[in-house]
Amino acid sequence: MDRFDTLIIGGGPAGLIAAIRASSLGQSTAILEKNASLGEKLLLSGKGRCNFTNGEDDINAFISRYGENGKFLYSAFSKFGPRETMVFFANIGVAMVEERGRRIFPKEGGSQKVLDRLLLECKKNGVKIFRSTPVKSLKVKNGHIDYIITGNDEVTAAKYIIATGGKSYPRTGSTGDGYRFAQQAGHTITELYPALVPIRTAETWPKLASGCNLRNVRLHVFLDGKEVAERFGEMEFTNFGVSGPIVMELSSHVPDWKGELIFSLDLKPSLTHEILTERVKREIEKLKGQGRFFRVVRTLVPKEMVRLMLELGDIPHDKPVEYISDEEIAEFVSLMKDIRMTVNGLWGFNNAVVTRGGVSLKEIDPATMKSKLCDNLYFAGEVLDLNGPSGGFNLQVCWSTGYIAGSVND
Ligand SMILES: Cc1cc2nc3c(=O)[nH]c(=O)nc-3n(C[C@H](O)[C@H](O)[C@H](O)COP(=O)(O)OP(=O)(O)OC[C@H]3O[C@@H](n4cnc5c(N)ncnc54)[C@H](O)[C@@H]3O)c2cc1C
Repeated sequence: MDRFDTLIIGGGPAGLIAAIRASSLGQSTAILEKNASLGEKLLLSGKGRCNFTNGEDDINAFISRYGENGKFLYSAFSKFGPRETMVFFANIGVAMVEERGRRIFPKEGGSQKVLDRLLLECKKNGVKIFRSTPVKSLKVKNGHIDYIITGNDEVTAAKYIIATGGKSYPRTGSTGDGYRFAQQAGHTITELYPALVPIRTAETWPKLASGCNLRNVRLHVFLDGKEVAERFGEMEFTNFGVSGPIVMELSSHVPDWKGELIFSLDLKPSLTHEILTERVKREIEKLKGQGRFFRVVRTLVPKEMVRLMLELGDIPHDKPVEYISDEEIAEFVSLMKDIRMTVNGLWGFNNAVVTRGGVSLKEIDPATMKSKLCDNLYFAGEVLDLNGPSGGFNLQVCWSTGYIAGSVND
């Protein structure tokens, strides 16, 4: 039976940084990873470019992006926050650039470079990596893990870190095993939802514009008729509803909104009804004597959306523009400012960037990531009940909690 000072279950970003930290402190350290290779999800992150943190300098503002549970991170961030993360990556040879929304990416090499550098650090520090080694269960007795069982062996350690990720994108290896392990140690798992995920609509017409990407639009969210949120930015239509950055971000809140949920899409949020009406009239004027209505629409929305707008509106596509009445123009303007969709649920975990919910934070010491129920158990990464919006916030949870979990505290 192998024995280590620190044993980490899961070789994703949280597990890797925990291993680097523990080994750098002289701990004999091992990672048990069920896949044949490590960091599969990390490789997908940021579409392969790895938006590994965010440049927001105000820690309070940073933490507010995680909602209520964010305050759990104050302690970890005070020791190893976004700044320290950037210094860490610079020191291991990952130069970085800041982009729109203060997203931080590697300057070159993308996710593969981040992964390669983390693995190189593990190698330098003598971290033992067991690939294709799924952990099956923990043997817990009187608030203490005696050993863990893998496919073909038992392994013991002074300290165990669960870094198995959440349930999202299970094809990367994150199949939710860590929740089961946590429960074996007596932990509570809060309700799990897919987050940062496309949204389904009751209406089937979004498929008419599937793949159409809209920029600078505003989505208003109405719960039982009362506006509860709004977002400005990019979204897209899919075969089953809507997706894109503002939709994905709203998806994390959808489970909290119990009741009839309506999205109202404003295609031209910077234009008032009056100004937009003038604009439509100008386009009509230009086409008088030679144009049909669809050509007006073509000047107002992306071409992939023309068919959808004609379907939703009442004006026949081939109506000569000179016959379009003021009432028809007013109706079309109202449509452009208020396209309504009924939210019918979220896509599942297969398509979710992160999991909302996880190991209850009440049962973990925020200064050490140590279980309050099991004296040699720690947690790091997405398995925790922490999730943020896109922009580097989710990987930052992994770096901070992984680093702290890998530290020697007692
Ligand atoms: C498509 C996509 C794009 C993303 N882009 C970004 C981005 O740009 N920026 C950002 O901040 N976040 C991004 N995220 C989120 C981010 O990738 C995750 O939050 C992060 O990978 C979680 O890290 P983790 O180490 O906690 O878990 P994971 O990365 O899920 O790693 C867990 C590891 O544990 C292993 N494991 C699981 N069970 C067992 C077991 N029983 N035994 C042994 N090993 C096990 C898994 O195989 C896996 O290797 C993205 C996610 C996705 C899906």
